Amino acid sequence: MLNILIVGNGQCGNRILDAINREAFGKKSRLAKFYSQQKYKSNVQTIAINTAVNDLKEMKFTKAKDRIHIPHLHGVGANRNVGKHVFEDNKTHIMRQIEERGNFDVCFVITSASGGTGSSFTPMLVKELKERHDYPVYAVVVLPFREEGTLYLQNAAFCLRDIRESGADGIILADNQFLKQMGGNVESAYNGINDMVARRLLFLLDALDSEMMMVTDLGDFKTVMSGGAGLATIGFYEADTDMPVRSAIQKALSPSGLLFSSDVYKEASRAMVIIRGDKERLSIDEISTEVEKLSSAVGHVFKGIIVRNGELPQVLAVLTLESASELENLYSIAVDAIKYERDKKERVATVKEVDRAFSQIDGMDPSY
Ligand code: GDP
Repeated sequence: MLNILIVGNGQCGNRILDAINREAFGKKSRLAKFYSQQKYKSNVQTIAINTAVNDLKEMKFTKAKDRIHIPHLHGVGANRNVGKHVFEDNKTHIMRQIEERGNFDVCFVITSASGGTGSSFTPMLVKELKERHDYPVYAVVVLPFREEGTLYLQNAAFCLRDIRESGADGIILADNQFLKQMGGNVESAYNGINDMVARRLLFLLDALDSEMMMVTDLGDFKTVMSGGAGLATIGFYEADTDMPVRSAIQKALSPSGLLFSSDVYKEASRAMVIIRGDKERLSIDEISTEVEKLSSAVGHVFKGIIVRNGELPQVLAVLTLESASELENLYSIAVDAIKYERDKKERVATVKEVDRAFSQIDGMDPSY
């Protein structure tokens, strides 16, 4: 049995964590958090951390004791410098809360890259965990919609760099921009994306702690994640009634199955493909052909098969990336955003037009 820690930082991290807990409770009841036992096979501890108390209160499926409020007015206002100070001031408290839960085999820290709290807390938390423990720590990082504004773009660029430098054992990318075709308004897109991330992570945890027909384990996952440029993404597909397993594998590896835009046959470096379902539906020949196709393009592919009677075939693929052209695009627009903010700051500092306007009434008083 694996001991797994999942931390959700900031609003986005909290919400994805809540989606994980909802799936794990297996009930859509608001009361689930009060009486249900989580249905994890592993020992999974979940912790939500936030400076904004309202984001924590919004959580429906995460127990109150697992929601840690770090008081700082009403959040850190997308300012990563403020966020870093707040983390430093509260580090002892945060680390105590985590360490009280025992030791772990693996940890996932979920955050958006672009807000204030999660994007500043995550690299510092990862660094702290890595200095104190020898278990692997993976960051699950949500990238912003590109039109969300210059502050979010610059935060995303610096946050990702900070996480890489924090000692994280890998970064799993999910991209709001790429996933926004989920449709509907922003809120329902968020919910859809959060559910996608939650389902994939739970599938992965289940697979790492399963008795499979063909086994993949935490060791294989670590090897996959240590390949490539430290960046990874996850693909997933559930076949419908008549779909052969071959097509489900292809769909999990295709852009529409992934959390981050990539041509995995060109950009992936290592992979783990896990197939779960009824034995009758899992043709070993089809699975081998698809896995060989992928391994001839990317190098090494670990393969796992989990037999679950009566289940439609589901495919999960973890892929580390050797290059990521979409990330290069993001950084090139982030550079423009950083320059734009810097120029604006300089303009405000030198021109002070508003001050000139105020100075016109210096020494005067209102007359009534
Ligand atoms: P923080 O609370 O200060 O860490 O900031 P947020 O987590 O709200 O970060 C803002 C970024 O997260 C923006 O790019 C939002 O689009 C994104 N975001 C906020 N909430 C969600 C959510 O529930 N799901 C997803 N996928 N993205 C979110």
